[in-house]
Amino acid sequence: MYRCMICGLEFDHPLLVIRNEIVDSDGNRERQIKVVCPSCWMGEQYFENTEET
Ligand SMILES: [Zn+2]
Repeated sequence: MYRCMICGLEFDHPLLVIRNEIVDSDGNRERQIKVVCPSCWMGEQYFENTEET
């Protein structure tokens, strides 16, 4: 389980956001997958793993 340090939400699986970004002047695109909090959409650097091992 993860907890978001920004909004405090706890969740099992973060949200995956897939974006197609144009990476050069020819219009070539690169797919980028971002992992975000399902509530506030902050990135994974703001997650805290609450699992006890
Ligand atoms: Zn959050």
